[in-house]
Amino acid sequence: MVNNTQQFQDIISHCKEYGFIFPSSEIYDGLAAVYDYGQMGAQLKKNLRDAWWKFMTQLQENNIVGIDAAIFMHPTTWKASGHVDNFSDPMIDNKDSKKRYRVDHLLEAHADTLSETEGKLLLEEMDNLLLNNNYEGLKKLIEKNKIVCAVSKTCNWTEIRQFNLMFSTKIGSVADDADLIYLRPETAQGIFVNFLNVQKTGRMKIPFGIAQTGKAFRNEIVARQFIFRMREFEQMEMQFFIKPGTQMEWYAYWKAERKKWLEELGIPAEKLRYHNHVKLAHYADAAVDIEFEFPFGWKELEGIHSRTDYDLKQHQEFSRKKIQYFDNDLGPDGKPIGNYTPYVVETSIGLDRLFLTVISLAYREEKWTKEDGTEDSRVVMKIPAALAPVKLAVLPLLKKDGLPELARELLKVCKPHFHCFYEEKDAIGKRYRRMDAIGTPFCVTIDHQTKEDNTVTIRYRDDMRQERIPMSAVKDKILQLIS
Ligand code: ATP
Repeated sequence: MVNNTQQFQDIISHCKEYGFIFPSSEIYDGLAAVYDYGQMGAQLKKNLRDAWWKFMTQLQENNIVGIDAAIFMHPTTWKASGHVDNFSDPMIDNKDSKKRYRVDHLLEAHADTLSETEGKLLLEEMDNLLLNNNYEGLKKLIEKNKIVCAVSKTCNWTEIRQFNLMFSTKIGSVADDADLIYLRPETAQGIFVNFLNVQKTGRMKIPFGIAQTGKAFRNEIVARQFIFRMREFEQMEMQFFIKPGTQMEWYAYWKAERKKWLEELGIPAEKLRYHNHVKLAHYADAAVDIEFEFPFGWKELEGIHSRTDYDLKQHQEFSRKKIQYFDNDLGPDGKPIGNYTPYVVETSIGLDRLFLTVISLAYREEKWTKEDGTEDSRVVMKIPAALAPVKLAVLPLLKKDGLPELARELLKVCKPHFHCFYEEKDAIGKRYRRMDAIGTPFCVTIDHQTKEDNTVTIRYRDDMRQERIPMSAVKDKILQLIS
């Protein structure tokens, strides 16, 4: 769906202006649906990833361990998982030139030749048809718009067929002998193929989980919503291995647990909702999305899927290696339960979508009337303090009189504990605004009084309140506020 909200455009511009997100290889006019995280964005993204990792691998009562599998995997992995056969999007051939096009590319190129409004309407119609898998409608749309092949210049098209979303490349030094391999479209399979390795070496007892964060790649067809849908993105997934028959219990558990975590991260409950899948994937016996109200509407942020024993069984069949778990627990007959293929409940969230969630909520344009009756305004990123890329700005009021030296003393104490920023240029008001724009929750100003009584002014981003505190109390105060 084409997004046109002003607020969303403002967020995108702000992200670029303040070093959160840049279009990829921008000096070459960018690459569609690929983005780079800048100096502020990379740190915020890391803080989000760390928060998820800690929740999964450190704070759980249940045993969950983390791994870091490679992006490249043996090609058979993707046959076993079903991605080679089922992970696809529509394409069309021209019967005269025999040239093949992706349906969305063809329509997008045509939209570029139309007026802005007409182009936008066409793309909206296309997106709706694509999302509903309406291939007949898409072909009619191509014909109605009299779109011709660039080579044959004819409108003689085949029916629309599927196009696989996986990116492929070749491994090996000699092109002829090289094998076709894929860039993983999800991180989950790296966990399934390592199930036995982790279970055996970690002596893991069911129920247990394996967590992983990492890049995934999809040649997405509808990719026009900033970092919401990218061709290269990052996932944070956890596969929870359980006894067959207990899946509905664990599914309900993770569904609740994951929503609770999102709320604890600072996302208001009313901005989150569950959306049950009506059409289930072939491997799932239950699936739900946690949706967030993005500036362009309610959309999936995280998925919780009960994946049965499908993946492990598929890998067992394709690898011809026994992938089972021996359960020592006693069954109703008083004997050990024995061997079975574990069932899996998975939680899967896009790190980039979580980033977009956090910045959509944080971005504010505030206006107010000052005491002298004049108007004032600011753009502020109210990122939760625990997640903010920079926690503390240390600002000497002047560049002289020993104030920078005092500021450096404070920095030396604080830097080992959290990210600090030092700035001595420009008027203090201007410096505060710059810190608001990147979401720095606390600023400390060093002035002449600091030299006399060792106190500083701490200024709070959210309500702009200021108070005087001893310089020696700054570090502990901030540590407490960001914990
Ligand atoms: P969608 O329906 O939006 O395409 P999906 O159902 O294909 O998503 P999953 O395969 O369940 O997504 O992937 C799990 C999570 O990974 C999603 O909830 C989302 O947060 C994230 N994700 C998936 N595709 C992308 C993408 N192209 N760009 C960014 N994040 C993505």
